[in-house]
Amino acid sequence: MAAGTLSAQKLYSEKHIDYVKKLDSRKDELEYWLTEHLRLNGVYWGLTALHLLGCPDGLPREDAINFVLSCQRENGGFGAAPGHDAHMLYTVSAIQILVILDAVDELEKRGLGGKQKVGSFIAGLQDQNTGSFMGDEWGELDTRFLYGALNALSLLNLLDLVDVTKAIAYVQKCENLDGGYGICPGAESHAGQVFTCVGALAIAGRLDLVDKDRLGSWLSERQLDNGGLNGRPEKLEDACYSWWVGASLAMIDKLHWIDGSKLAAFILRCQDPEAGGFADRPGHAVDVFHTHFAVAGLSLLKFEGIDEVDPVYCMPKAIIRKIFSA
Ligand SMILES: [Zn+2]
Repeated sequence: MAAGTLSAQKLYSEKHIDYVKKLDSRKDELEYWLTEHLRLNGVYWGLTALHLLGCPDGLPREDAINFVLSCQRENGGFGAAPGHDAHMLYTVSAIQILVILDAVDELEKRGLGGKQKVGSFIAGLQDQNTGSFMGDEWGELDTRFLYGALNALSLLNLLDLVDVTKAIAYVQKCENLDGGYGICPGAESHAGQVFTCVGALAIAGRLDLVDKDRLGSWLSERQLDNGGLNGRPEKLEDACYSWWVGASLAMIDKLHWIDGSKLAAFILRCQDPEAGGFADRPGHAVDVFHTHFAVAGLSLLKFEGIDEVDPVYCMPKAIIRKIFSA
């Protein structure tokens, strides 16, 4: 794809950087408190977006590390905010943040039991019968948790704490005849679940198990006339599916099966050119979740001025390269 056709529409990088940096200073606003349950995820989304936008030092490093560590619980896992129960999704965000900040060693220095304790928390959530993972002690199963477990454990170099073979066998059971994957065996295909299943297979080195042509067809059918992508048939487009669909296509080398120029143009229409940030679709209110995934989607499309993202980990590619070459 020619870069020239993409830069016809402008990316307001500086506005987006300002938008993300200011999120932390809005404690007096109701929205801040309503989203407390998302806080640790929010730091990961904001930090990754800042990195991809070329502003890696946009959040105060020491404050971010202190905040992450303050969310850790006695069992080694992390909650959304201090005092919240530990959960797989926040634990994954905590590890991703520490890796991005090159601060994993802080777990040994100031964490509760070092990285081994975090790894034990995650490993303890694997269902011994199915190989899948629960999000927390309450036992809900979801392929998101399985992907999260493999993501965080591989970043910590602790994959051997879990039964990867069994986990992969479970992922295979979630594959549907249309080539997509669902939240559990028999559930309809959904682009979010496709991302987590294909991501888990990528981390395990088992992308050979994917029917790439069949999945690539299903994923490329997610593009609508307006250029945006939806998560499953008959649904509306949404900027965050630029990531779930786009990254899945990138992992199976089929990203060229969609029209990248049209997708980039759709993502850019989701920007707020004045206040910064991206919304799920044009004209809607922006939020940090969609800002992160919109920027990451543009990065997959190699949009000018955005750093490269890793399609498996949804983190800056340079950081992932460094971690796994060490
Ligand atoms: Zn969305």
